[in-house]
Amino acid sequence: MSNMKTILILLLLVSITLAAPLTFTETFIQKSFAQTGIDGFSAERATAERRWEDQFRAIPDQKSAREHLRRLTLEPHIAGTKEDYATAVYVRDQLRSYGLSADLKEYEVWLNYPNTSSVLELITTRRQRLNTHEAVVSGDPSSSHPKITPLFNGYSASGDVTGPAVYANYGLPNDYEDLKKAGVDVKGKIVIVRYGNSFRGVKAKVAEQNGSIGCIIYSDPEDDGYMQGDVFPKGPWRPVASGQRGSVQYLFDYPGDPLTPGKPAIDGTPRLKPEEATDLTHIPVQPIAYDVAQTILSQLKGPLRPRGFQGGLPFAYHVGGTSDVKLRLKTDMDYKLRTIWNVVARIDGNEEKDRWVVLGNHRDAWVFGAVDPNSGSSAMLEVGHGFGELLKQGWKPRRTIILCSWDAEEYGLIGSTEWAEEFADDLRAKAVAYLNLDAAVSGPHFGASSVPSLWKLMRGATRDVKDPNTGKSVYQQWQDRSRENRPEGDQDMREARIGALGSGSDYTPFLQHLGVASTDMSFNGDYGVYHSAYDSFYWMDRFGDPGFHYHVAAAQLWGTLAMRLADADGLQFDYTDYATQIRDFFTEAMRLARIRNLAGSFDEKSMTSAIDDFAKEAERVEKERQEAVRKSDRERLAKINDALVQGERQFIDARGLRGRVWYKHQIYAPGFYTGYAAQPLTDFRQAIDDRNSVVAKESLERIIDSLKRVTKTLKSATD
Ligand SMILES: [Zn+2]
Repeated sequence: MSNMKTILILLLLVSITLAAPLTFTETFIQKSFAQTGIDGFSAERATAERRWEDQFRAIPDQKSAREHLRRLTLEPHIAGTKEDYATAVYVRDQLRSYGLSADLKEYEVWLNYPNTSSVLELITTRRQRLNTHEAVVSGDPSSSHPKITPLFNGYSASGDVTGPAVYANYGLPNDYEDLKKAGVDVKGKIVIVRYGNSFRGVKAKVAEQNGSIGCIIYSDPEDDGYMQGDVFPKGPWRPVASGQRGSVQYLFDYPGDPLTPGKPAIDGTPRLKPEEATDLTHIPVQPIAYDVAQTILSQLKGPLRPRGFQGGLPFAYHVGGTSDVKLRLKTDMDYKLRTIWNVVARIDGNEEKDRWVVLGNHRDAWVFGAVDPNSGSSAMLEVGHGFGELLKQGWKPRRTIILCSWDAEEYGLIGSTEWAEEFADDLRAKAVAYLNLDAAVSGPHFGASSVPSLWKLMRGATRDVKDPNTGKSVYQQWQDRSRENRPEGDQDMREARIGALGSGSDYTPFLQHLGVASTDMSFNGDYGVYHSAYDSFYWMDRFGDPGFHYHVAAAQLWGTLAMRLADADGLQFDYTDYATQIRDFFTEAMRLARIRNLAGSFDEKSMTSAIDDFAKEAERVEKERQEAVRKSDRERLAKINDALVQGERQFIDARGLRGRVWYKHQIYAPGFYTGYAAQPLTDFRQAIDDRNSVVAKESLERIIDSLKRVTKTLKSATD
């Protein structure tokens, strides 16, 4: 059965390739493919690998993917609830039914639910109670589910505050500066800010720092509502009575359980008192829909909006701050230690059991979570489905593959962080790479982020998976689209761009705490229902992925990446791309340093020569690896592989980043204010932004030291 299907797919691919005129790059790739087979495999092993991969990719199936998603999104399944537990059992039992060994792994962590719906009142000449629920939408049957959680923020404080309302735009530091210039102080007032430009936890922190007593966050229609297109249920964008739930944990300080930073939340770990946790806000924070925001914002007086403050609501925004328009916000949170459940399945490696390729996706959702995260969960189950079939057919992966279904990611990457903290020593010694998938499918456009050493692996795997809509490879579709969207004057678009890993999903503990090389990817589209009750099965079936072909493509791609790393003779890590990337990051940082007149205050030369040495060594190891693969020199490859895996670990500085010791990676971390987005060369860049030459010098020295460690480790591959 599966073989027949494989042949059909292959024939289809061949005919499409022949029919379409080849671009230069495509021709080039096909040529180099013919010569090398699959990167990391000797010629004869590449043939076997291709056969296994083809068999694997024939197994993920639309009907089965659709059924997984339907089952996982039947009920709201917020972390720690019995509905969440039911999804853990479903995932475990499905994986077992495919023949894998899978178990639940529990942690006790600090989580909040709303005791009652929050109270929001507008107080002008009269009091007006405002809505903190999302509306039932005709057409989407699950929108009337009785267990839909009211709008609330994970880790909001409880409180009952009344004060003048101030509109503070995106709620970032420069917005408060603009308010100050306009003569508006937010101290003792309630700010209303819009989503966008950064992570909501940053907005909560900056509001508190500026002395506001409460923070309301709304989704402006400019961002993901009618300004983008038709709203749900007519189109995929956010309808008026919809808000965005989400955590306001200070993820940029440390993620995971707030009471056990750096340690697993298990018996025997001492816990902080909640008031000692430095990653939690002290003010009530509340999300609202844009019809409610309109009621408030349209009545604000005070100065007319500063430049950049106007959003998509149909009137001129004023910033408020006057005492004739007040708000009352009451949040009542039920905080407790609650049990969460990861599901962990493993396939033991046949030759290198102590080398782990780890795949992870979270399972918990604020409501139904069809896109975020269960499109990824459905893909994971289909990967398990495929691997289970291969094992029955005699496939023996060389290295161990671990599939992880994380819980409580939405609150702050909790399930993954606690697991990574519990098995930190094992992961440091054994983890080859961590491959993340979160909101896997919201449309047809592929995008990826990863450490540069895995760029070539990512590109290679996307060449071997078919894009369902165009019939081209995912790679070709991705590249064509990048070309169309390239910025004016960007000539260097021979390859589709792969982003930098910041934070906001479960790769963070692996990469930024432990130094495990990581990737993240997704198929994206017009997705306006993020963290709302309308991120539902109905939405996916109608807008996100009708037919579920992209769920299948996601599973095919994820599994292909895992198989290549698990089976390779010579692991596909190329540090020459890392060196190029760091050089670009440094050039950009130097440009900013010159603008700020800081360039003379640190050792630019040492950094440049550290990058040069790193680049040279990376190139040498890559050549050695290719040669050892060609000659099937197992002994040499064992040494090279270890060095390639351990290279990433050397970016870790045990002392951690400035003021946040949990983050230890010297190249990649989220910035203090960038939210999810990475701020590469983190401490150095922050010091330049802060115009602090002493810190800039010190931070750059740490980065240089880490580069020297990586270079030395790569050298050890061939000593
Ligand atoms: Zn997610």
